[in-house]
Amino acid sequence: MIIKPKVRGFICTTAHPVGCEAHVKAQIDFIKDKGAIAGAPKNVLVIGCSNGYGLASRITSAFGGGANTLGICFEKPPTDKRTASAGYYNTAAFEKFAHAEGLYAKTINGDAFSDACKEQAISMLKEGMGKVDLIVYSLGAPRRQDPKTGELYSSVLKPINQTYTSKNLNTDTLTISDMTIEPASEEEILHTVKVMGGEDWELWIDALKNADVLAEGCKTVAYTYLGEKLTWPIYGHATIGKAKEDLDRAAKAINGQLAGLNGGANVAVLKALVTQSSSAIPIMPLYLSLVYKVMKEEGTHEGCIEQLYRLFTEGLYTATPRLDDHNRFRMDNLELRPETQAKIEALWPQVTEENLYELTDFKGYQDDFLGLFGFGWDGVDYDAETDPMVEADF
Ligand code: NAD
Repeated sequence: MIIKPKVRGFICTTAHPVGCEAHVKAQIDFIKDKGAIAGAPKNVLVIGCSNGYGLASRITSAFGGGANTLGICFEKPPTDKRTASAGYYNTAAFEKFAHAEGLYAKTINGDAFSDACKEQAISMLKEGMGKVDLIVYSLGAPRRQDPKTGELYSSVLKPINQTYTSKNLNTDTLTISDMTIEPASEEEILHTVKVMGGEDWELWIDALKNADVLAEGCKTVAYTYLGEKLTWPIYGHATIGKAKEDLDRAAKAINGQLAGLNGGANVAVLKALVTQSSSAIPIMPLYLSLVYKVMKEEGTHEGCIEQLYRLFTEGLYTATPRLDDHNRFRMDNLELRPETQAKIEALWPQVTEENLYELTDFKGYQDDFLGLFGFGWDGVDYDAETDPMVEADF
């Protein structure tokens, strides 16, 4: 079939296998160019490995540290009539490149929140990869079924306590208008914490520890976003921010669990970037278009792979990590520089439908968004007949 992007709101329902491979390859090339990462882990489990920050974590581990990796993701395989999801093609491409270098790379395509997935991961570690020395927790999920009670929880992106009205860009119609979101109920806050908080991260570490598959000195990291004034009402101080606060609680608890192994748990604060999860957050497309504009002008723009390289070299595997007073690695330092935020805040009220492409880097946002689904990559013939049926053993 000829595969073209079909965008509906913040999702693209098609993905291009050759383009996704090019996207993975570009990240691998970036990491290889940087050279080997000193002290990098050798056996890495990445929970949420197929897109965005999790994929970049897996690539950094494998191609910056020569690590064996076991990945967990939740992706749609292809059929004769439909392309797979981008994460499926990304993972197939990652495994192909890793195997070509003789690295162990296996993936479970299943629900990371379930007990069955944890059990499968443990038996694969016991039979194949061995004890892990880094666990990356990078899930971006809209819902979670509690493995003990069977209850289904859905997360919401809503403010807390007060109604929030803000300028918003509709990325389909390119219209800018005020958007109002009513505050979340107590139940919605609780449900969001259940999905995106630290409980499942703790369950993973518990299960792995009980099964004796954690190596001496094992580290674990989970990702968060804090942001600043513009995004606080919908992120930092909103339902998702509450869930992310719960990661700090979980990190402390996990630290206790890992103490006997001389291991440790940290939350890492990463910068705002276009991913499948972030493009679903109200106001984020406009904020990101301004972040791109200002940071590209400053020469400080980074993508997922640049962030992950810094997390490994300036956070996880250095004697002098950049930590804040909550024991979190701060990789959002460039986005949150006061002068950078001041420029974004000054531009924010000036943006209109007419000057969108001038005052913001919405073009860069759109290119990155389509790039996530394998579109727009150099050297890929998008008019060519392409077989969606890429084989994979996950
Ligand atoms: P993403 O949408 O690009 O990737 C999410 C990953 O989770 C995919 O690999 C997907 O397959 C997997 N996944 C989702 N549900 C699953 C399930 N039930 N079982 C197994 N796998 C499942 O997301 P992202 O933007 O890379 O976000 C990853 C983490 O980084 C999140 O915790 C997010 O809050 C955090 N973060 C994101 C940003 C940003 O701007 N994108 C910034 C800072 C922190």
